[in-house]
Amino acid sequence: DSYLNPVYTFDNYIEGDCNRLARSAGYAVAERPGVTSFNPLMIYGGVGLGKTHLVQAIGNYIKNNSQNKFVLYVTSEKFTNQFLNAVRTDGIRDFTSFYMQVDVLVIDDVQFLQKKEKTQEIFFHIFNHLHQSGKQIIMTSDRAPRALDGLEDRLLSRFKWGLSADLQTPDLETRIAIIQKKLQAEGIYIEDAVIEYLAHSVNTNVRELEGVIVSLIAQASLNRRDIDLELAKNTLRNIVEDSEREVTIDSVQEAVADYFGVTVADLKAKSRKRELVHPRQVAMYLAKEKTDLSLKSIGYHFGGRDHSTVIHAVQTISDLVAKPSETRNAVEKLKALFK
Ligand code: ADP
Ligand code: MG
Repeated sequence: DSYLNPVYTFDNYIEGDCNRLARSAGYAVAERPGVTSFNPLMIYGGVGLGKTHLVQAIGNYIKNNSQNKFVLYVTSEKFTNQFLNAVRTDGIRDFTSFYMQVDVLVIDDVQFLQKKEKTQEIFFHIFNHLHQSGKQIIMTSDRAPRALDGLEDRLLSRFKWGLSADLQTPDLETRIAIIQKKLQAEGIYIEDAVIEYLAHSVNTNVRELEGVIVSLIAQASLNRRDIDLELAKNTLRNIVEDSEREVTIDSVQEAVADYFGVTVADLKAKSRKRELVHPRQVAMYLAKEKTDLSLKSIGYHFGGRDHSTVIHAVQTISDLVAKPSETRNAVEKLKALFK
């Protein structure tokens, strides 16, 4: 058993600016394992950005296209446990020779090997053996090789022989494409406006984006209704409230509207009346300060304004807040509402 999960493929791995280099390096390795200079191939990046998916896709591709190759996927945690078990049961020789037989070794989350000297030592020997025999090694890590302290220098220097490629937080276009793909896979149709709303509101990582889609589908089926903007907003609000960490753009808009005695709709409206422009600018400023949404996404949430309007608002309010003023008082009071 290779322990690969066949659901992870290149076909369902959405390409975007955030993963282009890693994906194409991965594809090159998948087509010619052990032959390219990308050996080892190290894919690194934060949680939920698609490391496991990508390296499993490489493994599956090789397995499906060259049946005679032994592809093995293992997490570093499992590798460590197997090794410790081998130590206890006097099975180190078997352990080592098993790993030395593989043609393609995919080892996930190598940061787990930090400070585990004995495990690193055995991995070093296996690594050398495989590499010298022209076998492919593929690794992932939650940080760049240079930031992997607690790993022996000789091992780290091996990691640098090949190619390291990072995965970044998905950009807006990629988020939209991922949402579309996931819904399509579920056979669910939702309006573009709802997709856009989700893409502009969930910008952390792909796992979280998937979680939101799953909740949304569950909510729709529980309530026997279609997925529309209102359901999307409610679902998102519940998720964020549960996790108690982030300020949502909706809560910023509601607080600001309340404070200035206008409505949220006013903040999003086209009107350029002075009594609306000011609260709108304050809300944009607070959205920039209190959420981690991009300027583009903030503009989207204010009736589809472009990012330069948001920059202008942020600048205007920053200037007012820099000195004692009514605006500074308002901003301080409003900020206090968000922890
Ligand atoms: P990591 O290993 O970096 O923590 P995963 O590979 O487990 O992240 O990815 C988290 C989830 O997001 C998985 O369900 C995966 O299929 C999905 N995913 C990540 N990146 C993409 C992508 N580019 N296209 C489609 N799905 C993705
Ligand atoms: Mg992973």
